[in-house]
Amino acid sequence: MRMSLPAMESRAEVVVDVGAITRNVATLRQRAGVALMAVVKADGYGHGLVEAAAAARSGGADWLGVAVLEEAMALRRAGDTGPLLSWLAVPGEDYPGAVEAGVDVTAYTPRQVDEIAAAARSIGLRARVQLKVDTGLSRGGAGEADWPALVEAAADAEQSGAVQVTGVWSHFACSDEPDHPANDAQEKAFVQALKVVDAVGLEPEVRHLSNSAGTLLRPWSSYDLVRCGIACYGISPAPDVVSSAELGLVPAMTARARLALVKRLPAGAGVSYGHTWVAERDTTLGLVPVGYGDGVLRYGSSTAHVLAAGRQRPVAGRICMDQLVIDLGEDHAEAGDEVVLFGDGADGAPTAQDWAEACGTIAYEVVTRIGGRFVRRHVRR
Ligand SMILES: *Cc1c(COP(=O)(O)O)cnc(C)c1O
Repeated sequence: MRMSLPAMESRAEVVVDVGAITRNVATLRQRAGVALMAVVKADGYGHGLVEAAAAARSGGADWLGVAVLEEAMALRRAGDTGPLLSWLAVPGEDYPGAVEAGVDVTAYTPRQVDEIAAAARSIGLRARVQLKVDTGLSRGGAGEADWPALVEAAADAEQSGAVQVTGVWSHFACSDEPDHPANDAQEKAFVQALKVVDAVGLEPEVRHLSNSAGTLLRPWSSYDLVRCGIACYGISPAPDVVSSAELGLVPAMTARARLALVKRLPAGAGVSYGHTWVAERDTTLGLVPVGYGDGVLRYGSSTAHVLAAGRQRPVAGRICMDQLVIDLGEDHAEAGDEVVLFGDGADGAPTAQDWAEACGTIAYEVVTRIGGRFVRRHVRR
């Protein structure tokens, strides 16, 4: 049995159990059997960049991964000195700063290799560069036709001493659908791309392809390193295939608030903007002081549930900017009582995955969006 969360200190708070992140990372790393990169982009998927990173390192994360350089630099400023990869940049980024901080940067084009190499020369250091091949996601990276030129440029830059090619990687489009034919096609393209790298004599430290879903559902695709994001936070990357509980993962985030008001409502009264919800019988409403201005998805209007007064209660009507209304039926509650929007599910509250299903989206969006006036607290259970 896990310890319960500490008492609420604020009107609305997001409580992040860093112990859960640590244990999830340890579970994933053991399962993968190769090195693990914990992806902490987008403020650690809403869990706190620095806190999530530290928790992941404690769980054995060999690498950290972020999207943009500002995230990488924030981790360095917070004292993280380990292997760290960033992968999304525009021309004119602070490459000298990244090189000096020992951050691995990713190149998609020969022009980017040149820019990184020039930055390294300007400060007399060697840049750590990873090459991204687009094997079919059709997002970042060099496509098949452009790959040989990127590899050549990187090999030349390594020869010149300005860069060291530390990794070669790609990213799945459909790894949450293990039977999708794109998965095998992408892996085949990845193997081809690695042959091009071999042929010019580059020997990168790490080759990597899998995100959380790949790690869990295609263990043969792990190569030297897996990049796990959502699973580190205890959420299944492929909820249609396997639940987080079945994976031995525990959701780290709980979003909760205290009731601002409880009152009776007569049958026939409409609730919230547009009166899209109408009381079928006399009932009791609870007013929860959070809304879409705090990242509570408005698509949960009349579809999502929260835990209040001992069981799950439906959101009644539209979620507003600052508040939402729940239907308490005939049960008793009082202003100040705790309402759990979502948590780890162990106490009967909905999970981020439940909210995702109610909102027609993915749990990634539920946890990443939450913020606004929620006070974020980090605890260790
Ligand atoms: C976000 C991201 C990941 C992590 O994906 P999850 O599905 O959260 O595990 C891995 N690699 C790249 C390139 C990403 O952008």
